[in-house]
Amino acid sequence: MQAALAVLAALILFGASYVLIRPVLVRLLARTGPERIPWLAEDPPAHWGQLVRDVFPASRSLSSVKFDRLLRIVQIFLRDTRFEGAAGFVITERVKLSVASQACYLVLGKETHPFPSTRRVIVYPETFVPRRPDSSMDFDLVDMDDGPTLGESWDHGTVILSWPSVAAGARDPDDGWNVVFHEFAHQLDQGDGESGGMPADVPTALRTEWQALVAARLEELRADLNDGVEPYLDDYAATNEAEFFAVAVEAYFEVPGALAEVDPELFKLFLAYFGWAPDGAEAAN
Ligand SMILES: [Zn+2]
Repeated sequence: MQAALAVLAALILFGASYVLIRPVLVRLLARTGPERIPWLAEDPPAHWGQLVRDVFPASRSLSSVKFDRLLRIVQIFLRDTRFEGAAGFVITERVKLSVASQACYLVLGKETHPFPSTRRVIVYPETFVPRRPDSSMDFDLVDMDDGPTLGESWDHGTVILSWPSVAAGARDPDDGWNVVFHEFAHQLDQGDGESGGMPADVPTALRTEWQALVAARLEELRADLNDGVEPYLDDYAATNEAEFFAVAVEAYFEVPGALAEVDPELFKLFLAYFGWAPDGAEAAN
């Protein structure tokens, strides 16, 4: 009996210490240095160019140098990420390229591995009912739009998407809404095991300013909503720091000119972090 109690106490102690030290461990591991882009020796398949332009119209505005870089980053992403179809959904090359090209668009200006923590993308044929993870130790983000889930980003490198939302987000490149941008912004944010609206690889020189600006904007958004004033970002940004970041990333990549005009401070921070902005931003600068 005493032995059983001792084992139970040890298990509880182990569990509690895991919860406490996990964020520190993940942070330390993330700090061991970002992996540089592991370029592949072979060229991307020749037919990818047309397919990516079809499934992700925003890519048509890229210079040929940037477009070529996008395809090469997609190549790495597809090598390192497993795709699974759920509820009978069949994963085709078109589906993979649509998700991968939209995700990699975000990191086009970065010099590190596109999404070092992302391991798996699950795609549903329709919007889906959220499946909660078993473990209460996960820090997962579920995005809903007054109904079924549009997408989810899990702490352990899993992104869940609905195909109609992926396709709709890509089809309209400047409506400020893109579920792949949103969920992969969460993946960047969750790379350090936390989701506080600031990715682990935000440079040290920007971190204080970043944290202060996100906190200030979140407060302003909430105040606007309380006063019945239409905020400059989607209302959903007011949920918390993580959703603010994901919604602001959608705006930065879909309507960069408008964001640069209404919030030049945030725009400049994002430009410093992402290393590029789509065309349209220059006009407002
Ligand atoms: Zn979200």
